[in-house]
Amino acid sequence: MFETTVAGSLPKPSWLAEPEVLWAAWRPADDDILEEAKLDATALCILAQEEAGIDIVSDGEQSRQHFVHGFLAAIDGLDFDNRKRIGIRDDRYEADCPRVIGPVSRKQSVHAAYAKHARAQTDRKLKFTLPGPMTIVDTIADEHYGDRATLAMEFARLLNDEARELEALGVDVIQFDEPAYNVYMSAVAGWGIDSLERAIEGLSCTTAIHICYGYGIQANIDWKGALGDEWRQYEETFPVLAASNIDQVSLECINSHVPMSLIGLLDGKDILVGAIDVATNRIETPDQVADVIREALKHAPAERIFPSTNCGMVPLSRDVTYAKLRALAAGAAIMRAEI
Ligand code: ZN
Repeated sequence: MFETTVAGSLPKPSWLAEPEVLWAAWRPADDDILEEAKLDATALCILAQEEAGIDIVSDGEQSRQHFVHGFLAAIDGLDFDNRKRIGIRDDRYEADCPRVIGPVSRKQSVHAAYAKHARAQTDRKLKFTLPGPMTIVDTIADEHYGDRATLAMEFARLLNDEARELEALGVDVIQFDEPAYNVYMSAVAGWGIDSLERAIEGLSCTTAIHICYGYGIQANIDWKGALGDEWRQYEETFPVLAASNIDQVSLECINSHVPMSLIGLLDGKDILVGAIDVATNRIETPDQVADVIREALKHAPAERIFPSTNCGMVPLSRDVTYAKLRALAAGAAIMRAEI
């Protein structure tokens, strides 16, 4: 009960990439050394999660520069060399994004080597994250399809092929990250959920979706400040997810303005309750974590609650990250003893 996990990314060692920044460039210049460094960093972060007491560990996205573009790097039909600067997440911020210049296809497995390596490091349950179709579509400059829904379904097919390979390698949980769900809410009930269902089609491992208000970067902090006292975006999307085939929903709770009562709309789903704030270096106390779980228990049964982090932790330092994860595990332990 109260198995702990992480939303996804973890900070990279400074010998792999510049720390505490998003989209950090790789440091090893030699391709062979870079590959070795990615694998070593994957092993290290799994060990660090185990030591912190995390039950369902993640590969920490150590082999990816960014959670979206890491998957896209191995997809045909995209031009990464001539990127286009576009506004993403409804123009909340700008990013240099690959252009879609032809039909998209997956010429080979994107993450298999890293998933296999991660699997070999641990006997604990292993989680692997992939970008969701809607978020992919929002993080590329389409110059070929001309229709977001069509492009999302194309990517959902490629993601499903990738997910089936990861499952066969022994990955226990495959999570799709869909921060765009909080931005294009009216599309979630249509092509948003249709493409997610296509992405998880035929999978027998646990499937999850992480929907959030973004990393703790300034543009997101400003945006969150403009959302008002109560963030009720989930009121629109949770009923859609509750009716879907997805097993788990990951969301941010601590220090957010999401009313905890909204998780009551996720009847029958596992809920990954964000009990670690990724937008501050302040380390939570185990009691603060326990308080969040206690609040969640008012709206969901204990066996459905999985204490987690609010979002990816890649912008934080490693010291802060693992101190926070120790607090997460300790908070879950308090609650296990209490129930
Ligand atoms: Zn997130």
